[in-house]
Amino acid sequence: MSVVSASPIGDLIELKWSDGSLSKFHNIWLRDNCHCSKCYYGLTKQRLLNSATIDPNIKPQKTELTNNSVLITWDQDDHVSSYDFYWLRLHSYQPRLVPVAEKLQDSDSLLKRELWQVKDIKDNLPSVDYNEVMAATDDNEEAIKDWSLKIWKHGFCFVNNVPVTPEDTEKLCEKLNYIRPTHYGGFWDFTSDLAKADTAYTNFDISSHTDGTYWSNTPGLQLFHLLYHDGEGGTTSLVDAFKCAEILKKNHPESYEIFTRIKIPAHSAGEEKVCIQPDEARPIFKLDDQGELLQGLGQHHFFSR
Ligand SMILES: [Zn+2]
Repeated sequence: MSVVSASPIGDLIELKWSDGSLSKFHNIWLRDNCHCSKCYYGLTKQRLLNSATIDPNIKPQKTELTNNSVLITWDQDDHVSSYDFYWLRLHSYQPRLVPVAEKLQDSDSLLKRELWQVKDIKDNLPSVDYNEVMAATDDNEEAIKDWSLKIWKHGFCFVNNVPVTPEDTEKLCEKLNYIRPTHYGGFWDFTSDLAKADTAYTNFDISSHTDGTYWSNTPGLQLFHLLYHDGEGGTTSLVDAFKCAEILKKNHPESYEIFTRIKIPAHSAGEEKVCIQPDEARPIFKLDDQGELLQGLGQHHFFSR
């Protein structure tokens, strides 16, 4: 789609598109979004221009059209800005010409979550191979992409053939991302010695829960590796909390709604010198502004009395 005319009207510029549609851009908005090398550092895609230095009454001195862009010479400092047709179409806000959904269409289908119950997944558990993941390079990230997508879609992924040492496990974590340090340390290993006054440090059976509900930034991803096992039990069980939420919403909408609304305080104070709580209490189901579930916070530290 190309621009056939660019007409200044007061504090706006009206663009006419080849399909007859019109979009209006404010002068100050266009000047603020100039991507020339003085206003924008292309290498980091970060701005260099201080918005507060733009005269709010800035006007175009001249507008020109090239094959694929609109050139504007401003009445301030004779500054020349160039706006690509495609970029203008994509960012048109008055009116919006490209629906947000259209911009995100590809990522939507790629990132579609596959909620599961055991019967859906037990014969085909998402997994990747340690050696393939570790062999990934900046030029060939396919194995990392595969691993990340499986985690995103299913909420978990097994990694097979990891050498049974803390060092190799740590390297595996770092292959995916940096490790976020907490009061437990960055990467840490532990055993059932009650070191942190937490039931996770015992050999008790802990029912389904999510971890770290007492942090403002609750963990989005954790990696566990059983390094040594002597005795019975110790089975890991996994639950798709998003699937639970979906079923609850369908069968008991009122209960679901309560879980999205009522804020539950949480804290961790098991150890001496540790007292952690989130900056604000949050409901069990955290939603985005479209009402879609973002995160479930189910606590094993939570008891009603
Ligand atoms: Zn500029």
